[in-house]
Amino acid sequence: MSTRSNATSSSKAESNPAGANPAAAIDALAARARACTVCAPHLPHAPRPILRVSSSASLLIVGQAPGRRVHETGIPWNDASGDRLREWLGVTREVFYDKTRIAIVPAGLCYPGTVKGSDLPPRPECAPLWHPPLRAAMPRIELSLLIGAYAQAYYLGDKRGRTLADTVHAWRECAPDTLPLPHPSPRNRLWLKRNPWFEAEVIPVLRERVGRLLAAGDNAGTAHQ
Ligand code: SF4
Repeated sequence: MSTRSNATSSSKAESNPAGANPAAAIDALAARARACTVCAPHLPHAPRPILRVSSSASLLIVGQAPGRRVHETGIPWNDASGDRLREWLGVTREVFYDKTRIAIVPAGLCYPGTVKGSDLPPRPECAPLWHPPLRAAMPRIELSLLIGAYAQAYYLGDKRGRTLADTVHAWRECAPDTLPLPHPSPRNRLWLKRNPWFEAEVIPVLRERVGRLLAAGDNAGTAHQ
């Protein structure tokens, strides 16, 4: 499995598209993304793109799309799924929400709504529109965590496995710059139980990699668990 999608590959070549000040460039880009209304007619509410980015981030978390609660609060991963994700990563909430180190950009930036109690997929317009420029404006990203099938579909394309388990099980083929993960939702308890190799084999590698990555960029004095 190739480790790089087109979006990932092009990001480094197109770094800092807006010129000399990377922080200003990504702030301007994030402001444009937050003002996006491209698929407003398809959304259940006014668009509210949720993303946390900075030009200095070294870890990127690509999830699915905000749920209703995230849409209302504007805070991603502020729930049981986020708690489990932080446990997998071995980081505190403080580190997790330090956007100078960890960027959070879901496959769809806006809450897509639900059908029969289940969240709809991310809007298909979103990732091709926003991920390439955002990735290009974050040249220090060394590891992208692809959480769930939609993030994996966008970044890995036809190189992902037949099932999510196949894709995650082939994680070594995505190293070192990309790591596919299952969604840490409590609803995935059964998946985790059926795939014990994930917590035994992948989580220690993930934790070690994230710890090293954040320690290397630790110039802000943020505590790492
Ligand atoms: S989901 Fe993405 S493309 Fe659609 S309105 Fe929100 S930011 Fe724009």
